[in-house]
Amino acid sequence: MTPIRLALVGLGKIARDQHLPVIAADPRFELVAVVSRNADLDGVAHFTTLAELLASDVAVDAVSLCTPPQPRHALAHLALAAGKHVMLEKPPGATLSEVEDLRLTAAERALTLQTTWHSRYAHGVASAREWLADKTIKSVRIDWREDVRVWHPGQAWIWEAGGLGVFDPGINALSIATAILPRPFFLTAATLHVPENCQSPIQAELDFVDAAGAPIRAEFDFLQTGPQSWDIRVEVEDEDTGNKVLKLSHGGAKLWVDDVLLREGPDAEYAGLYDAFARLVAGKASDVDVSPLRHVADAFLLGRRVVAPAFIE
Ligand code: NAP
Repeated sequence: MTPIRLALVGLGKIARDQHLPVIAADPRFELVAVVSRNADLDGVAHFTTLAELLASDVAVDAVSLCTPPQPRHALAHLALAAGKHVMLEKPPGATLSEVEDLRLTAAERALTLQTTWHSRYAHGVASAREWLADKTIKSVRIDWREDVRVWHPGQAWIWEAGGLGVFDPGINALSIATAILPRPFFLTAATLHVPENCQSPIQAELDFVDAAGAPIRAEFDFLQTGPQSWDIRVEVEDEDTGNKVLKLSHGGAKLWVDDVLLREGPDAEYAGLYDAFARLVAGKASDVDVSPLRHVADAFLLGRRVVAPAFIE
C-alpha cells in the first residue's frame, strides 16, 4: 500500500493536538510537508506558504487545512487547482458559497474534498443516531458552554468577521444534532450577544423546530467558568414506558438513556476523520456536508444582535 503523501497547512492548536499524532499513527498517510508562517517540524519539509510548497519538488497527494476558516477557501482552491485532494477542518469555510465552489472544483477534477465534522466521530454519536432513528422527538435541548480563555487562548481570528465566535464550538453541537436527529430542523429565532469590541458573538441562544414541530433550544456560551458542558438532551415519546431522555454529554463522548450510561469510550474523533479521508481518496469520492454551517449562517441572517460588554482576554 502506497501511503497518501500529505501536507499539513497551519500548525496551530488543533494541528498539534490532533492531526500530527493521528497522521503519525496511521500507516495510510505520510506527512511530507508542513506549511506555517511561524513554526516548523523536525524532519519534515517546511514552507511558509502553500504556493511555495506546490512550486517545490516535494511530491504531495493531499493537503489537510488546519487554519482558521477565513483563509481556507483560497488555500483549498490553490490545492485543488494543483490536483491535490483536500481535507477541510471545521467549519469548512467562511461562507456557504465558497464551499460550494470547492465542491464543484473538486468534482470537475475528480479530486477528494472532505468537510470534516470531528464531533460526529465522538463515541456516542453513531449509537445515538441509531437509537433515535424510529423515535418521536418531543423536544431537544443543547447546552454548549465553555471558557474561551481556557480553550482558545490568543486566537484573535475567532473574534473577527468569519471567525464565528461562540459558534466555533457551537457548530460542533450542530454537527452532532444534524447527524442524530431523524428529521430536518430549521431556525425560528436567535439572539447573538456580540462584545462591543468584537465582530462575532460571545453567547447565543437559538430556537429551532424540526419538521414535525418539535422545539429545539440551543444555548452557546463562551463565558462559562467552573464546570464546562457540551451536552445534548433529547426527550422522546415512548408509548410503552412513557417519555424517555437520551443524553449525549462530554461533546458526544458519553451516551445516556434515562441517566443510565450506555456508551463511553476513548477519544478517537480524528482517527475517525483520517480513516474516512483515506477511504474517500481510495474510492475517488468526496464528502461535502454544509448543514451545520448552514444553521450558523441562518443564525447570522435571522439573529437579533445585542451589544455585550467588551471582551478583554
Ligand atoms: P490556532 O491555534 O489559532 O491555529 C491556527 C493556525 O492557522 C495558526 O497557528 C496559523 O499557523 C495558521 N493560519 C493561517 N492563516 C491564518 C490566519 N489568517 N489567521 C490566523 N492563523 C492563520 O487555531 P486552531 O484552534 O488550531 O483552529 C484552527 C481550525 O481548527 C479552526 O477552524 C477551528 O475551528 C478548528 N478546530 C479547532 C479545535 C481546537 O480544539 N482548537 C478543535 C477542532 C477544530 P501558522 O502560524 O503556522 O501559519
